[in-house]
Amino acid sequence: MNNSILKKGVLVLFMFVLGLQTQAQTKNITTKALPRVTILATGGTIAGSGESATKAAYTAGKVPIDILLSAVPQIHDLAKVKGEQIAQIGSQDMSVEVWLKLSKRINEIFKENSADAIVITHGTDTMEETATFLDLTVMFDKPVILVGAMRPSTAMSQDGNKNLLDAVMVAASPNSKDKGVVVVMNELVFDGRDVTKTITTSTSTFQSRNFGPIGLVYDGKVSYYYQSLRNPVKKFDVTKTTSLPQVEIIYGYADASPVTVDALLTTNVKGIVYAGMGNGNFNAAVGKSLENASKKGIIVCRSNRAGSGRITLLNEVDDAALGFVVGDDLNPQKSRILLMLSLMETSDRAKIQSNFFKY
Ligand code: ASP
Repeated sequence: MNNSILKKGVLVLFMFVLGLQTQAQTKNITTKALPRVTILATGGTIAGSGESATKAAYTAGKVPIDILLSAVPQIHDLAKVKGEQIAQIGSQDMSVEVWLKLSKRINEIFKENSADAIVITHGTDTMEETATFLDLTVMFDKPVILVGAMRPSTAMSQDGNKNLLDAVMVAASPNSKDKGVVVVMNELVFDGRDVTKTITTSTSTFQSRNFGPIGLVYDGKVSYYYQSLRNPVKKFDVTKTTSLPQVEIIYGYADASPVTVDALLTTNVKGIVYAGMGNGNFNAAVGKSLENASKKGIIVCRSNRAGSGRITLLNEVDDAALGFVVGDDLNPQKSRILLMLSLMETSDRAKIQSNFFKY
């Protein structure tokens, strides 16, 4: 064979191999650049299925995660996404058992470094409680995002696909680190500590009544505006926990009788959150029963039924004399979670009160 033809052949082969290599490297860089997001599915309306696109009736938690993900192919441009089914329930059935499973799995994923961020699909009814539970028990500062929908995936006005896309966008954003657990709904980002469901059926149901959303998701961009100074200084390690101390909530109203508090005194309850009137107030009869509870060693935590604001110590109620603690600005359902977790470690009132003032 002619020498120059051979040289040309070697050159062409060299260029070809080089080309292949560069292509592989570019591919690698592109894949590497995408953050790894694990989606943990728990059910809810976002996975709900109804009989028709125009009827409101549906069953929550029916659609598995693979189908949910296949409906939003755009998320694969934002992240390397993996889905895992943790539960398939309406979030009205959320339980300590599922919270522990979820929290343990998240801690495990971050510990083994198999994801950069986690998105949890969840029903909206108790999303705020799960957000608080995870905020207090996930030991890593990587992004954890809860997302749901108010309309099932089969409805004409379904909001789940867009919410899911936004949630993955928040998960993939480098600015989402150190924000604690957040909720992404309706193009808004909320601090998991503050967020609450405020309207029974509207897509604009989520609000942080005291402090507002911390960010916006719009037109493919995430913009943060505020960050809480109260994100957990203290975390609770539940990696080996199998159950939590029992804490119940009692609702306050005019002329309430003490029977519900008295009934709790016959159980194994370790804490009572009292959703009081105004600044956490109760009438004389209920007050007497709460005082009895406190004398028996049950931690009584005053919260509010007003929906916003905070409970102040020693205003109309002599908390020091009664041995009560206050839930600060946490609503009753969030106060219950912090009280359960606190009681896991201590029954010292001063320490529990300090947990409420620090979180
Ligand atoms: N009941 C449903 C749930 O919480 C409502 C929803 O997801 O919007 O699972």
